[in-house]
Amino acid sequence: MSDAKFYITTAIDYVNSRPHLGTAYEKVTADVIARYRRLRGDRVFFLMGNDEHSLKVEQAARQQGLEPEAYCDRMEEAFTEVWKLLDIDYDDFIRTSQERHKRAVAELLTRIHANGDVYQADYEGWYCNGCEAFKNEGDLVEGRCPDHVGLELAWLKEKNHFFRLSRYQDFLVEHYAKEADFVRPEVRKNELLELLRGGLKDISISRESASWGVPVPFDPDAVVYVWFDALINYVAGVGWPDDEARFQSWWPADLHLVGKDITRFHCIIWPAMLKSAGLPLPRAIFGHGFVNLGKDRMSKSLGTIVDPKALVARYGADAIRFYLCAEATFGRDLEYGEDRLAIRANSDLANGLGNLLSRAISMLIKYRDGVVPAVPTDCASAAVTARAIEDYRRAMDALDLKGGVEAAMSIVIHANKLVDDEAPWALAKDPSQAERLDRVLYELLESCRAASVLLGPVMPTKMRDLRLALRCEAEAPRLEQAAFGGLAAGTRLEKIAPLFPRIDPPEES
Ligand SMILES: [Zn+2]
Repeated sequence: MSDAKFYITTAIDYVNSRPHLGTAYEKVTADVIARYRRLRGDRVFFLMGNDEHSLKVEQAARQQGLEPEAYCDRMEEAFTEVWKLLDIDYDDFIRTSQERHKRAVAELLTRIHANGDVYQADYEGWYCNGCEAFKNEGDLVEGRCPDHVGLELAWLKEKNHFFRLSRYQDFLVEHYAKEADFVRPEVRKNELLELLRGGLKDISISRESASWGVPVPFDPDAVVYVWFDALINYVAGVGWPDDEARFQSWWPADLHLVGKDITRFHCIIWPAMLKSAGLPLPRAIFGHGFVNLGKDRMSKSLGTIVDPKALVARYGADAIRFYLCAEATFGRDLEYGEDRLAIRANSDLANGLGNLLSRAISMLIKYRDGVVPAVPTDCASAAVTARAIEDYRRAMDALDLKGGVEAAMSIVIHANKLVDDEAPWALAKDPSQAERLDRVLYELLESCRAASVLLGPVMPTKMRDLRLALRCEAEAPRLEQAAFGGLAAGTRLEKIAPLFPRIDPPEES
């Protein structure tokens, strides 16, 4: 049992559009990691939220004839509805228009200003409204932002406040060297190190012309640049600066989970801001890959999005969560295909785990009146389970979610093979094989139970159903409970409906 704390965050989302499967990927995987940490016995705090201060948000609100506040209230409902449908169990949901967040932004700016890291200067440059960021000339492709080729860049000239990011270059290079796990995966770390070694420029942190945002505490006519504002949610979400005890109990964050496109903000600008403000740095930042549809990233501006609500209606949250974890190595891009999702739902879940459970219970009812037999637990399945738990723990600790799922499924695969090899229906015909049949039945049921503990973070609802079918404790088991032999002899089981009904494959499109 561990008494470690684990504070995990996701990026907060712009509310100018509704969440799609690409947005959901990050939240689902963060939820799986948070649930795994709870399974390990850690004290977990999982923060999500919405990013409400941006010109895009203000424009989206005005287009609908709403004040930004009213628009953001509606979008909070739209987002949290999807997160609930996907069974995402966050502890807090922060919104950057909340007072607690504005207090933190004002305090952090006051501190970095007092530390001599803020100065005023004129700023001129190409600004991408898609990124909400100034672009370096060198990053443009044919005069356009490579991430928003459909948008005209705007040439902006304003008096801005600047943050002396350049001052933190050496500090960051040293920090990367000292803390091997600070930025993951390795490919992201190497990109950022290259950026760092190329030299850091000071960055503009205020906008003169905007009105929807947090006022700069030492210049009330300006508002804080949306990115600078947004990052501060991670400390505001655990009580900074007003609740020192709460802040101390959670900060530093153990994991910021973010998309690979925004690692620069999280791995360079954010640590420099914290250092300047005299706050500890997060322990780790992980840049996950995109969900691609065809050759492109799922994105609203490209019109390539999949609605998670429609998918949940068809497949259920658990099958989608399973697919998102199992389909791609975490950190790389996931090539989405509904056919692949349907295959996973049918082969791994309906035929693999669901069918194993149904058959094991049916045979127990048929051959043993539904009563779990007493057997010795030093069998092949016990060894397979022990190895699976080890592999699972190692994979999940390393954020290898695919590896974690595969370790758990190795128990299911072994048990299904046991059915074929032992043919319990044949053993049942031979009274001299009674003990052997007892053992096989127990191994099958116990394999289902052990797998349900390991797969609980990935499929919380279905694994709860599975444990209930086995008359086990439904809620929040600990990882140790996956150990073989937990199913009590004498337990009486009853027939169940299929855990994962088969799904017709999607029509060719
Ligand atoms: Zn852009």
